Amino acid sequence: MKLGFSASCLALFVLTAVTPMASATSDGALVLRNVTIVNVERGRLEPRRDVVIVGDRIVGIQAGGTVQAPKQGRVLDGNGRFLMPGLWDFHVHVFSAPGEEDFALPLYILNGITGVRDAGALRTLPEQQSVAAAIERGERVGPRLVLAGALIDGPPGSWPGQMVAASPDEGRQRVRDSKAAGWGFIKSYSLLSEPTYLAIADEARRQRLPLYGHIPESVRLQTAVAAGHRSIEHFGRVTQACASEERAMISANAQALKAPEPFPALMAVMMGHNGRTLQSWDGERCAAVVKRLASAGVAVMPSLMVSDFYLGKDPAADDPRMRSVPSAVRAQWREGDWRRQQIPPELLAQAPKSVALDWRTFKIAHDAGVTMLAGTDAAFANPFLFHGYTLHDELARYVEAGLTPQQALLTATVNPGRFLARRDLAGRVSIRQRADLVLLDGNPLEDIGAIRRIHAVVANGRLFDRAALDSLLRDVEERAAR
Ligand SMILES: [Zn+2]
Repeated sequence: MKLGFSASCLALFVLTAVTPMASATSDGALVLRNVTIVNVERGRLEPRRDVVIVGDRIVGIQAGGTVQAPKQGRVLDGNGRFLMPGLWDFHVHVFSAPGEEDFALPLYILNGITGVRDAGALRTLPEQQSVAAAIERGERVGPRLVLAGALIDGPPGSWPGQMVAASPDEGRQRVRDSKAAGWGFIKSYSLLSEPTYLAIADEARRQRLPLYGHIPESVRLQTAVAAGHRSIEHFGRVTQACASEERAMISANAQALKAPEPFPALMAVMMGHNGRTLQSWDGERCAAVVKRLASAGVAVMPSLMVSDFYLGKDPAADDPRMRSVPSAVRAQWREGDWRRQQIPPELLAQAPKSVALDWRTFKIAHDAGVTMLAGTDAAFANPFLFHGYTLHDELARYVEAGLTPQQALLTATVNPGRFLARRDLAGRVSIRQRADLVLLDGNPLEDIGAIRRIHAVVANGRLFDRAALDSLLRDVEERAAR
């Protein structure tokens, strides 16, 4: 039994709940009565518990039915339900289009996602920070926002609004600029040259800013690992590193980037890489690659759902999730995307094999101890990657690829908190943890699909019961239809 909180202690907290300080973030104490706690770390259940929340923290856990109802505050009956830590989506773009956050943020809460890492935006850092602060104060509905969008690319830059560095000196300067602007992470992007990337990595270390992001196309995976890359975004580069032709492919990219028109030149050589990876993927080599990742503590954000787009597995027009996407964005998604149009048919035909190889490599990497951070790349700019909903599909895919439901859940609960070195966000339902929780109608350790059956969400101590979640959804759908 995991008590450790005496009745008198609890009474004290329930008392403090009525003081203005505590009610700033919640309307007094919240008691989740008779829940079954899902211990994701240990993969087991702790039945019949009362969980007491004051402000934004869990302050008590007792045997079910033993906590007195607070005079002010709320009691939610959790009998027969499962309380798990709130989920993280560790790769989203909440600000990729004007007004996107007004739709995206409530959709995360609706789906039990109480934290997201934003991996790049069109909006300035102060604008993003003011949204994050409003959420934290309870003035806006949304998940915790980890702002990680200081993107540095090589010339000419892949997206509008990115920082571009054409030389090692420029790379160092961009890192110092990012530090001065208040960014907490540096994100590297695909077109950086190797010398510039290495200078960025070195300067990021000096400035104590964790480096994550795309491994540039001209840099080998093991070079990035040695340079201190903290999390690799998207899985493809791990699979490619398992191919004996990796070095040849990377040097072809580096040559292409020296062409007068680097972007089309790079695209042209990269068209052949999927085939070369399929041909020269080598299990022994792969074991060594993933062992190196695991021992260096480099995490990977797999975003396996992204491949559905290349497989042409678009959701049906009447998919209910489409109703929460603004009509203009929906139309844009349906038009077909330039990314798919650019791909030659023979390459699209190869996609199922490439995807299967990614899944296989993913499972090998996971079993070798590589830390996975669940993420989706959800953004209005990325067709059919839905804010909120797609994370459920992503976790289900990990199970399809061979993980247990517990292992899949770890990637979206425990691992993100560890990556952020946040002991108060350890992905645990226990005392002193921030109250980021999801109450489910089913046991997610048995069936990963249970994460879709949400009865209530607690985000930073704020309760959203089923009625509140339904009204959030109605509001999003009404605005999306306009
Ligand atoms: Zn992204």
